[in-house]
Amino acid sequence: MDLSYGDADTAFRDEVRAFLADKLTPDLIAAADRTVETYSEFECGRRWLKMLAERGWGQPGWPVEWGGTGWSAVQHYIFSREVALAGAPNGFNNHPGSCILSFGSDAQKARFLPDILKVNTIWAQGYSEPAAGSDLASLATSAVSDGADYIVNGTKIWTTYAHRSDWLFCLVRTSREGRKQQGITFLLIDLASPGIEIKPIINLAGQHDFNQVFFADVRVPKANRVGAENEGWTVAKYFLAFERLGSGAARLLRRLNGVKRIVGLERASDGGRLADDADVARRLAGIEVDLQALDLWELRFTSRLSRGEEPGAEVSATKVLSAALMQRITELGMRTLGYYGLPYEPDRLSAASNSPPVAPAHVTAETLRYFMKRGETIYGGSDEVQRNILAKRVLGL
Ligand SMILES: Cc1cc2nc3c(=O)[nH]c(=O)nc-3n(C[C@H](O)[C@H](O)[C@H](O)COP(=O)(O)OP(=O)(O)OC[C@H]3O[C@@H](n4cnc5c(N)ncnc54)[C@H](O)[C@@H]3O)c2cc1C
Repeated sequence: MDLSYGDADTAFRDEVRAFLADKLTPDLIAAADRTVETYSEFECGRRWLKMLAERGWGQPGWPVEWGGTGWSAVQHYIFSREVALAGAPNGFNNHPGSCILSFGSDAQKARFLPDILKVNTIWAQGYSEPAAGSDLASLATSAVSDGADYIVNGTKIWTTYAHRSDWLFCLVRTSREGRKQQGITFLLIDLASPGIEIKPIINLAGQHDFNQVFFADVRVPKANRVGAENEGWTVAKYFLAFERLGSGAARLLRRLNGVKRIVGLERASDGGRLADDADVARRLAGIEVDLQALDLWELRFTSRLSRGEEPGAEVSATKVLSAALMQRITELGMRTLGYYGLPYEPDRLSAASNSPPVAPAHVTAETLRYFMKRGETIYGGSDEVQRNILAKRVLGL
């Protein structure tokens, strides 16, 4: 098995590296390094995505006529790897572009895709509800037909970034007849519409990433429905398949490099290096080996896509493996911090008489990341649900 790039792919990699060296400025890398939330600092994230868009690399996977690149599967792999390793900010790339391309009308494509491509609009995902998470098809937010509009009532929860978003791509119930999957419709909802209220939910790491969104008689034009009425489940599943593909060993390698920097620091107690600690070294080596295995596993999908094949149900294993690795990496970050690894509670720490010294900024961020990354095994289909898929569809159990 030859894993080296051919001449054309090497030239492409060098082109990507040259772009990154030119455009990915130290302030953007620093903003990405500071990130503990799902997305990097808003203005830095947007600036970076706009630079990619100007270069024509904003939505590499889209068809060329809509601003995509026409890259091969290997070029996609190279691009996402180089961007992650260079330390670029996380973009807010949660949008329904792929669904609009596959199921939307020409008018919807013309209206929504250019703004997504140029990062003029930010989107949030309105799938989960208080009583519909893994069992998403139980969702109850209703949309009742009223002339050219739907009237939407109900609530969505865990809606990442709704407070910074312009639009919500949303699943609503338009029928209670037949199987519960059959009465679901996919709507694009302007978050500035009257009747919408967005309430923050503060997560385990003390960050405002999530929200609960409430709808009280919200009028949504039927022109914003993607696909046919009651056939939104097919559109929604299409989006989830993309979400699971994008896990990424490079993203993990980047995070691991951050932890390695901490491991290289001096231990406060005796001036020794954490990397010399046998337990830390063993954990680090274990993670690095498993990360290489994940990288090879991902290349298997790159190879399948290169041959024009579908990724298949095995892609669920990518989500399971990468979520577990991310949690091991952030756990190692926490364990190596010792004193500083205490939960970050600035008010309590300063009030307590025996409070530990204030942690350096990167150490505090590592602690917050540990809490943030608990969510890795939940969103985009929980670990248990992915394992059910693997058991049923891959192992035939
Ligand atoms: C960081 C983060 C970001 C998110 N962002 C968004 C967003 O932007 N938009 C959005 O719509 N949602 C979002 N979510 C919500 C996410 O999709 C749901 O949390 C997820 O689908 C699980 O649903 P639930 O929380 O209701 O848990 P439940 O479905 O109630 O599950 C509870 C537990 O039971 C297990 N379980 C459930 N069913 C089964 C089964 N059949 N077999 C075995 N075990 C099972 C689960 O694995 C879990 O451990 C986000 C979640 C997180 C953590």
